[in-house]
Amino acid sequence: MKKKRAIKLVEEKLPKKRFEHSMRVAETAVKMADLFNGDAEKVELAGILHDYAKYDDLALMYQLVTKYELDRELLAYNSEILHGPVAAALMKYEHGIEDVEVLQAIFNHTTGRKQMTLTEKIIFVADYIEPGRNQPGVDEMRTMIFDEKKLDKAIYDISKRTVKFLLENDKCIYPRTIECLNYYNLEK
Ligand code: GDP
Ligand code: FE
Ligand code: FE
Ligand code: FE
Repeated sequence: MKKKRAIKLVEEKLPKKRFEHSMRVAETAVKMADLFNGDAEKVELAGILHDYAKYDDLALMYQLVTKYELDRELLAYNSEILHGPVAAALMKYEHGIEDVEVLQAIFNHTTGRKQMTLTEKIIFVADYIEPGRNQPGVDEMRTMIFDEKKLDKAIYDISKRTVKFLLENDKCIYPRTIECLNYYNLEK
């Protein structure tokens, strides 16, 4: 899929604020690809599309989990965990995206996982540090990426912050979130 078509898809589907977030993730991801020798075209496409299913109806998302034979464990979670896997399935089966790296980056953008590809890592981090984000500590994370160039350390720190936040709010933690936390704790 070409950039232009991806932008059109997302612009027509998502509210303006979410569309703008998606475009900023894509721009941040391209900058990171320059820095870490990633594939700018792949990260740009994944960035544009990553939140495509963010506001899809939950019942419809559950149907798609079954239709496209995704992990049935997803059925115990809500759209926060589902929107990445569902967007990846829609892009693969309904919009003809074949590039596995792009699909994986969309699929895993919320939780991360162990042994991410460079494209996955860039999207996971760009989603967290794009210029519109203002969560505490995000500036340190930007410095860690753009000045110190510590990509795996940033992944660990993001996972840690996410898990802390989830525990404090009594939310369920998806196994891949923990898998990512542990893997990048050892790798950082
Ligand atoms: P966004 O779609 O750009 O807002 O960002 P993400 O897709 O990265 O995250 C969406 C939401 O999922 C955030 O509020 C995270 O805190 C939440 N989230 C991340 N990991 C988990 C998890 O393991 N379990 C649950 N319940 N939520 C999670
Ligand atoms: Fe998301
Ligand atoms: Fe994220
Ligand atoms: Fe996002």
